This record gives sequence, structure tokens and C-alpha cells, in this order.
Amino acid sequence: MDLLSAALPTPIQQLSNALTERAGIHLYIKRDDLIHPTVSGNKWRKLKYSLLEAKARKETHILTFGGAFSNHLYATAAAGKLLGFNTIGIVRGEETIQNPSPTLQFCKAQGMELRFVSRQDYKRRNEKDYVSQLASEFGNPFVIPEGGTSALALQGVAEMIDEVAIQLCQMPGYFAVAAGTGGTAAGMLSAGAKVLVFPALKGGAFLEEDIKNLLANDFSKDNLQLFTDYHFGGYAKWNNELLDFMDHFHIDFDIQLEQVYTAKMFYGLFDLIQKNYFQKGETIVAVHTGGLQGLLRS
Ligand SMILES: *Cc1c(COP(=O)(O)O)cnc(C)c1O
Repeated sequence: MDLLSAALPTPIQQLSNALTERAGIHLYIKRDDLIHPTVSGNKWRKLKYSLLEAKARKETHILTFGGAFSNHLYATAAAGKLLGFNTIGIVRGEETIQNPSPTLQFCKAQGMELRFVSRQDYKRRNEKDYVSQLASEFGNPFVIPEGGTSALALQGVAEMIDEVAIQLCQMPGYFAVAAGTGGTAAGMLSAGAKVLVFPALKGGAFLEEDIKNLLANDFSKDNLQLFTDYHFGGYAKWNNELLDFMDHFHIDFDIQLEQVYTAKMFYGLFDLIQKNYFQKGETIVAVHTGGLQGLLRS
């Protein structure tokens, strides 16, 4: 099935500068930001099998969850429009009803119906009772959890690892990825990758438990390394140091990052390289998970 005519496999490019040369490592970037113009990066990977499942079940409506700046809501709204699903977005917080973010404006323009709920209610987004109550209000649509993160998401993400192994003719020593819900990291682990995970939110240590649950404990703990110190104040927070880093990255490599996820991951990864975390000759693949429509929003 021609799902969303994505540009697969996405390119892989080597990144080399004074830092990687001094450390003697081979660093690559997997350009999942180029996968699709509106269903970008890891959101495309995570949505693929949920959308196929919804199609197979002849569902007409999809309901999902996200914040006012959610790349997942954005991607789901775009995919719904492209594939002919009606979409419903349950939005965290009622304060943006009057003044919707550019992300939510885009979602609306794609035809997504938005329901704003209090932060209190939103906390219940993974509770069965709450979800089935919402679902019955909207005629029992196909429900995709926050971030697109579900068992179906793992399979789509795992395909990215397979692509890389073919492109490099080997399984790299490490992958690096930014994390919100940890669904992408879990999918990578499910494919047997060794993954360095950089949470974009504060106190990201809880992700280990979430990732374990997503994988039903079926992974080797040695394959997961969490680096919780590169959140820059928390989710959707940043400072000038991070923005400078992002600018320099753009100048050095001609690749645009964004400040919510990918710049934090690369900042952290470069810091590890600087601190000689890696052995000479090591191969590392950092995933550009996309999200560029959120570039420098505030
Ligand atoms: C959503 C997102 C992430 C986080 O993905 P999870 O699977 O929720 O951990 C990382 N990078 C970008 C650009 C994203 O949009």
C-alpha cells in the first residue's frame, strides 16, 4: 500500500569535523527529517502501522492526544487529511483555546477537530476508562496514544534501524536519539540496536520504565543508556547556548536542527564525544527525528 509516498530509505550522511577527527570516530546522521514534508521524521515511522491498521479495519475516524506544540498532532492531522481519515485531537490545557499555536492552527486547517481538556484531565490520557469515555463521545474512533507511541509504533521505527544496517553494511556500535515519550527509542531497541537516549524533558529517568513497559521487558538493559542532563530546563525550554549550537551545526554541516529535540540530542552527543566517551574507530548513527515545523516557535 502506498501509505504516504515517503522518501525511503532516507539518506544517511557522514558528519565530520575537528571533534570527530580528534576522537577518531565515525559519526553519521540518519535524515528522517527528509521522510515527508508534513508527516515528519519519527512521527511518520511511528504512525505507519497504526494508520495501516486503521485502514485495514475500515476505520473512518482517528483520535489522538498532544500538547499545543505537539509534532505528533501535526503529523496525525496531516496524515489524516492525506489518507481520508477524520481526525480528532485531544489537546492538553484549555489556555490556548482563544489563541491557538501555529501547530494547532495547522491541525485545524487539515480538518482536525480539537477538544481542549484541562491538564488534570489530560493526565488520564492513558487510563482505559477515560479513553473509552472520550471514544464513545466521538463515535468510537481508532485511538492512537500520545506521541503515536504504541506497540504498533515499534515496528515502524525498527524499519529505520534495518535501513541503516543495509546502508552502512553493518550494525553501528551506537545510535543516538532524542526522546519525549521514549517510543522511538523503544522501537530502536526492539530491533536490537544499542541506543543512547537524550530526553528533551526534565527528570527523564522515568523513561527507562516506560521504555521497558513498551518492550514488555524484552530487551537487553545494556543496550539502553539514558543521558538526562541535556534537557536545557525542560520540555520546550532552551537558552542561547543551545541556539548558538544549532546555528553552528547548520553552518558546519548544512543541516537544520530544531531546539525542542534534535539540537539537545546533538549537543549532548557532541559533549560525550568531547569527553572521550567513545573508543577510537566507533561508529555512531544519530537520528534526525524531524520536527522542523516547530523551529523556533515560542
Ligand atoms: C516527538 C519527537 C521526538 C520524541 O519521540 P518519542 O518517540 O516520543 O520519544 C523526538 N524528536 C522529534 C523531532 C519529535 O518530534
